[in-house]
Amino acid sequence: MKIILLGPPGSGKGTVSDQLSQDFSLLHISPGELLREEVQKGTSIGKKIKTVINEGKLVPAQFVVEMVKLEVEGTKDYILDGFPRSVDQAKLIDDLPIDRVISLEVNEEDVITRLANRRVCSRGQHSYHLTIIPPKNEGVCDVDGTPLVRRPDDDPKIIKERFKVFRRETEPVIAYYQQKGILTSIDASKNPKEVYAAVKKIVFNIK
Ligand code: AMP
Repeated sequence: MKIILLGPPGSGKGTVSDQLSQDFSLLHISPGELLREEVQKGTSIGKKIKTVINEGKLVPAQFVVEMVKLEVEGTKDYILDGFPRSVDQAKLIDDLPIDRVISLEVNEEDVITRLANRRVCSRGQHSYHLTIIPPKNEGVCDVDGTPLVRRPDDDPKIIKERFKVFRRETEPVIAYYQQKGILTSIDASKNPKEVYAAVKKIVFNIK
């Protein structure tokens, strides 16, 4: 199964992707995470893209597309989390077979509150919400035991910019896949359990 998960910042793409990958052995590919890793490692690419990410803008399409194509090579089942983010990127992966595209829908006010409460582990791979999905021990990642931090781009001003970028660049991608007849939209303002149940029903017809 090859799935694309789209949605504005804070719509729960990462949480749903993590669950799907655990329950159904799908490879979870998150370009956002891969890019943050480059920044964290301080690679030459990481240094170039750090400001772009921290300002909530998009990293150049060609680079992200190449990175994703390398990741999916030889993989049968995967989930692309927050990719493609522009119609340019979507056209560049038209050669990849995709079974279903899911669009998680939430409004901007809900997202600002959600992201204000989001904390991620210092390694950047696990995400929590201080009240809805809290860690077992306050301030510490359940999996890595590393301290939980706030992402630099979860600042309210940057969230507004990320939302603007989403409207301008990514909403047309939703229309692009709608025209292909493989898109389903889900109300992602509900609690994480309900959202995940809706996704499973669409992807695997499981209740
Ligand atoms: P995310 O973790 O998906 O919220 O992404 C965090 C940041 O990484 C975004 O605000 C962009 O700067 C960058 N990014 C993630 N995915 C893409 C993509 N498909 N194309 C370009 N930039 C991306």
